Amino acid sequence: MMKGIGVSAGIGIGRILRIEEHSLEYTPQQVTDKDAEIKRFHDAVDAFCMNTEAQAEALRKSAGENEAKIMLGHISIVQDPFLLGEVDKLIEGGQCAEASFESMCDMFIQIFSAAEDEVTKQRAADVRDVKAGVLSILLGINEVRLSDVPSGTIICVRELTPSMTAEMNKENIAGILTEAGGTTSHSAILARVLEIPAVMSVPGIMAEAKNGGQAVIDGKTGEVILSPDEMQLKASMEKREKFIRERKELEKYRGRTTVSADGTEYELVCNIGKPEDAAKALEADGEGVGLFRTEFLFMDKTSTPTEEEQFREYKKAAMILGDRPLIIRTLDIGGDKEIPYLGLEKEDNPFMGFRAIRYCLKNQELFRTQLRAILRASAFGNVSIMFPLITCVEEVREGKALVEQLKGELEAEGIDFDRNIRVGIMTETAAAGIIADLLAKECDFFSIGTNDLTGYTMAADRGNSDVSYLYSALQPSVLRMIRSIITAAGDRGIPVGMCGEAAADPLMIPLLISFGLTEFSVSAPSVLRVRKSISGWTKQKADEIAEKAMSFATEQEVRDYLKSVVSD
Ligand code: PEP
Ligand code: MG
Repeated sequence: MMKGIGVSAGIGIGRILRIEEHSLEYTPQQVTDKDAEIKRFHDAVDAFCMNTEAQAEALRKSAGENEAKIMLGHISIVQDPFLLGEVDKLIEGGQCAEASFESMCDMFIQIFSAAEDEVTKQRAADVRDVKAGVLSILLGINEVRLSDVPSGTIICVRELTPSMTAEMNKENIAGILTEAGGTTSHSAILARVLEIPAVMSVPGIMAEAKNGGQAVIDGKTGEVILSPDEMQLKASMEKREKFIRERKELEKYRGRTTVSADGTEYELVCNIGKPEDAAKALEADGEGVGLFRTEFLFMDKTSTPTEEEQFREYKKAAMILGDRPLIIRTLDIGGDKEIPYLGLEKEDNPFMGFRAIRYCLKNQELFRTQLRAILRASAFGNVSIMFPLITCVEEVREGKALVEQLKGELEAEGIDFDRNIRVGIMTETAAAGIIADLLAKECDFFSIGTNDLTGYTMAADRGNSDVSYLYSALQPSVLRMIRSIITAAGDRGIPVGMCGEAAADPLMIPLLISFGLTEFSVSAPSVLRVRKSISGWTKQKADEIAEKAMSFATEQEVRDYLKSVVSD
C-alpha cells in the first residue's frame, strides 16, 4: 500500500490512466519578422482564452460560479497588461514568442513561490498552468482530452493543474492520484467540489503506477492500493457503497438551518486556523466560525506578525464570512504549542505554566498589537474576541480593560471598529468550570474547550498514551463540569458554545442538547454530520438520555449506555 494526502473524500476504484507531461521543449529562435511573431503570440493568447472560457463555462455547470472563477483567473493572468507588454518587448528584442513568454512566466513563478502564504504560493501553480497552456498552443501540441476518457478511470499525473481538473467529466473519472500538490491547491478544491476522490503527494506513484492497472484510492485516509487482490477489492467496493450512501444522506442537510426534531435552532459553526479556512467552512455549509486559532499565524513566521499583518489576516476572514459570526481567539501558546522566536523558557510543567492568557497579559505589547488588529478587523464583519485558558475573574477583567483602553485609542485615532464587539472566554480549565457562575457575569459568551477541559479535569495530558484511558469527555467528572458551565451560562442568559472535539461526537450531542448548549463549533468536514445528528433529537428525549447517562459512575457505563441509544 502507498500513502499520500487524502484531499477529496471518497473511494475511487478503477483503471489507471497516466497523463504524461508533454515535453514543452523547443529550440529558442531569433526572430526577424517581429510583427508576425507578436501576432503569433497574441493569437495563441486569444486561443488560450477561448479554451479557458469554454472550460470555465463547463465548470460553471458542473461545479458552480466560484469554481468557474478559478479558470477565469487564468485569463486575467494571461491578459495582464504588464505581462503582455513585457513579452512584446522581448519579442521586439529578437526572442521568439515561446522564449519570451516562458521567461516572463518563470519570473512570476519565482516571485510567487517565494511568498510565505499559501494563497500567493498557489498563484505560482496557476501561472505554471497558464504557461503550459500557452506554450502548448504555440508549439502545436494536442493535450489529452480528459473529458473523453473511459468510465472508471483513475487519472495518475505528476501534478494536476486546475485546467485538467476543469476538463474532467466526473461521470467517467473514478479518482485522481498525483505525486505532487496538496490540500489547499486549486485542483484539490475543484476535486472536492466535483466530488472526485483524490489523493495527492503520493511519493513514487509515477514510477509505480502502470497504464491500465487497477487501483483503489481512499480520498480521506490517503491510502492507495495498486493491483488490489480480490479481498481488497471486495472490501473497497463495500466501503465505496457505504460512503456514497452516507454522502447522499448527509447532502440532504446542506443549506438547511440547524434545528432539533422539536424545532429548537442551534448555531453550527467551524473551527479554523487560517483565514482561508473560513472559505472552507462556508464550502462545508458551516454557519460561521466559532474558533479561529490565531496561533497558526504566529507559528508560521520567524518573528511576531505586526499589527498590520494580523489585521489583514483577520479582516480577510471577516470579509469571507460577511455577517456570519467570527470568534477570534487571542494567542494560545505554550503547552503543546511552541513558538520558538518568543523565547519561552522551558518549563517543568508547561501545561500548568506560563501560557495563553497568562503570557499575553504579561507581554502587553504583543497582546495590544493583536487586540488592536482584531478590533480593526471588527469593522469588516461580525467579529468577537475570545480569551483562552481563563482560570479566574481577574484575567477576564484585565483582558477586557485592555480592550476598552484600545477602543479609546482607536476612537481617538479615528479608526473604525465595532463598538459593541463581544468579548467571551474559553471555559477549558477546571477552575473556569467551578466558577462558571462568577465568570458568566463578566463575559458576553462562553465556549467550552473540551480538549483542554478534559485534560485539566482528569489531570491527564491529552498527548500521553499512558494516561489516555483517563482522557475522555464522557468521564462523569467532565460531563458534570460541562453541565455546570452550560447551566451557569443559561442562568446568566449568555450564549454557550463548544469548540472542543467533543462537540462533534454523536454520543455527546443529546447530552449537550439536554444541558442547553446553544452553539456547536466543529471541523468543516463534520458540519453536515452534526446537523443531521442534532435534527434527530427532541429536548424531551435528550433529557431522558442525559438523566440516565448522568446516573452512571464510570466512563465505560456512560459510553456503553450512549452507544445503545444513539444510532450511527
Ligand atoms: C480546546 O481546548 O478544547 C480547544 C478547542 O482549544 P485547543 O484545542 O486549541 O487547545
Ligand atoms: Mg484549549
